[in-house]
Amino acid sequence: MDQVKIFLDEKDMPKQWYNLAADLPTPMLPPLTPDGQPVRPEMLEAVFPKNLIEQEMSTKRWIDIPQEVQEILHTWRPSPLRRALRLEKFLKTPAKIYYKDESCSPSGSHKTNTAIAQAWYNKQFGVKRITTETGAGQWGTALSYACHAFGLECKVFMVKVSFEQKPLRKIMMGLWNADCVASPSNETNAGRAILAAMPNTPGSLAIAISEAIEAAVTDKTGKTRYALGSVLNHVLLHQTIIGLEAKKQLKKAGIKTPDIVIGCAGGGSNFAGISFPFVNDKINGAKIEIIPVESAACPKMTKGKFAYDHGDVAAMTPLLPMHTLGSQFIPPAIHAGGLRYHGMAPLVSQAIVEGLMKPHAVDQLHSYEAAMIWARTEGFIIAPETSNAVACVIQEAKKAKKEGKEKVILFNLSGHGLLDLAGYDKYLHGKLESSEVSSDEIKRSLARVQVKYHAPMRKSGKW
Ligand SMILES: *Cc1c(COP(=O)(O)O)cnc(C)c1O
Repeated sequence: MDQVKIFLDEKDMPKQWYNLAADLPTPMLPPLTPDGQPVRPEMLEAVFPKNLIEQEMSTKRWIDIPQEVQEILHTWRPSPLRRALRLEKFLKTPAKIYYKDESCSPSGSHKTNTAIAQAWYNKQFGVKRITTETGAGQWGTALSYACHAFGLECKVFMVKVSFEQKPLRKIMMGLWNADCVASPSNETNAGRAILAAMPNTPGSLAIAISEAIEAAVTDKTGKTRYALGSVLNHVLLHQTIIGLEAKKQLKKAGIKTPDIVIGCAGGGSNFAGISFPFVNDKINGAKIEIIPVESAACPKMTKGKFAYDHGDVAAMTPLLPMHTLGSQFIPPAIHAGGLRYHGMAPLVSQAIVEGLMKPHAVDQLHSYEAAMIWARTEGFIIAPETSNAVACVIQEAKKAKKEGKEKVILFNLSGHGLLDLAGYDKYLHGKLESSEVSSDEIKRSLARVQVKYHAPMRKSGKW
């Protein structure tokens, strides 16, 4: 019988994170201030604790995972690597499909990996309260759990459409002692301004980020900081434990390198987590296809532009060099709330510019079809975000069948969908709609990205 689950001992959990910034052939462009100066660390000190700012700017290849963080990660890590034998059989593909299961964390997604790390660094720095935004609610729940683990207060601005569609996540946040409000809210200047202009807006991550940053920097005690669940270098760094574990587990299964690595990508963190250790292999000569999968409702990588843009709607964040649809872009209210962010992590964006990875976009109808196939073969009910990755996996497995190649496909199962059943219900009853945004709408939004500072697309030309 073929082995289905490949486990690692706790003692074999990686003790360092991998920093891709150390190895990209062309160095990263720096984030810029509104007047075009590279951001200096001290400029971020009102927003983030110093220790995380250092990490954000680090180009050290390996960064130690603090002992106390390792201990809490052991609650659910190393996460299992499984082989999707029943899906392979269903597709009659010669491909071998492996996946990391990140749905087994307390909050049900990969986001807990960085939440624990960020809460620990904030605590070390003397922070008492953390503010954040959340889309579908996974990040809000992950950070609530992590803050509670270290005795920190947590305030969450949740994108309104999800706040209304996903009330169960609010209960989880309450259970872990956090305070969650719908964004745009009346609690910040940014929120009030948006509500005055667009009273019926479904909200967006970019709006919620503006609110959460404002709430952190205006706290007079100086003991509040902000935390972001994706996009930034240090967040991607914390997720690399996924790919590092996967590498050890594949080795146990007798596989040196996978042929294809796939992850869904909202801000890029779970995708970076599974893929960056393999990007390192690719930089060192391995032949691997690496595919970030976005929603066709928010196609920043396949239809956006690489430009300096803000991470939030009120332009409170620095300008980041990234693939973007414009920070004013408000995507349709798809169920995969975690894929509704207008921009892509600068590290992932630069790797795309290098040609180290090739993005792919999936329509909501196709992603749910894939999630149904997954539930009816593998059994697990996956998050709507994850279903985009599975749609791509199925496509690649079918391609392998056509080519008659026994490819090894690795992907990241970023979270479970047990609190997201409404989308499945709609799909089952034929009520789910296509999610693709029109190219006119994209053009309009891109036209609003002010290209004050040119972001050169530098690449080595090797890929
Ligand atoms: C948040 C989320 C995503 C998208 O965010 P990334 O930072 O791109 O990983 C994907 N899957 C799940 C389950 C999520 O919660």
